[in-house]
Amino acid sequence: MGKIIAITNQKGGVGKTTTSVNLSACLAEAGKKVLLLDLDPQGNASSGVGIDKDSLDTCVYDVLIDEVPLTDIIASTMIKKLKVAPATIQLAGAEVELVSMDKRESRLKRALKQVKKEYDFIIIDCPPSLGLLTLNALVAADSVLIPIQSEFYALEGVSQLIKTIELVQENMNTSLHIEGVLLTMYDGRTNLSIQVGEEVKKFFGTKVYKTIIPRNVRLSEAPSYGEPIIIYDPRSKGAAVYTSLAKEVIKYAKKQ
Ligand code: ADP
Ligand code: MG
Repeated sequence: MGKIIAITNQKGGVGKTTTSVNLSACLAEAGKKVLLLDLDPQGNASSGVGIDKDSLDTCVYDVLIDEVPLTDIIASTMIKKLKVAPATIQLAGAEVELVSMDKRESRLKRALKQVKKEYDFIIIDCPPSLGLLTLNALVAADSVLIPIQSEFYALEGVSQLIKTIELVQENMNTSLHIEGVLLTMYDGRTNLSIQVGEEVKKFFGTKVYKTIIPRNVRLSEAPSYGEPIIIYDPRSKGAAVYTSLAKEVIKYAKKQ
């Protein structure tokens, strides 16, 4: 039974894609069958696992809009147990096209139904907005993982995100819950990071992962090689922390 986790925060640049790619890769490396579903028209999660977007004829857009079966667009990656449902810039059009469509907020849920049982985890990389694409992710997901950058205004917008999650819980997906909150780009040498960390813990309590993602240059280099960190530099700090996050996610899934 695949657990569907949406990686969401409507703020850009907080580490959603980095977390989607590297958590997916580390879960697969730990022996889990994983599908990484790219729901951001930027397609950075797709290229992050080595997909050449220019060579694609179809992507998640065709699944959402034309009801192409998800299995038709799923591609392999360099990690055996990690598959990807890629996105290209074409997906940008879906945000508008969905508006007038039937069951516009549950189209992804419907598409995932066919493949859910084939995976242990399905990780959705969401775009930086709370539009219809993210709404589709929240309706389809079992839970939400929220990356929070250890920076000024870290919690800005979080209350709006929580409100959106609650609305979805009340109306469309009663079992949706918060999977966990991840501190990213943390610098333990700065008071700011420490302060943000404390604020986030005050707000989210035990939902905050023990694993904290520090700033790590290797993590920012890996995408330009189209490789998750455990392939690009398995000995880096970045590889170690995302491996540790994967362990926490697996442990939590077992408890449920
Ligand atoms: P989002 O998907 O939320 O917009 P990204 O994952 O794309 O955020 O991250 C934004 C930028 O920060 C990217 O250039 C990425 O490589 C970089 N980055 C993300 N996490 C880290 C980290 N822990 N250390 C260093 N750079 C990071
Ligand atoms: Mg992103």
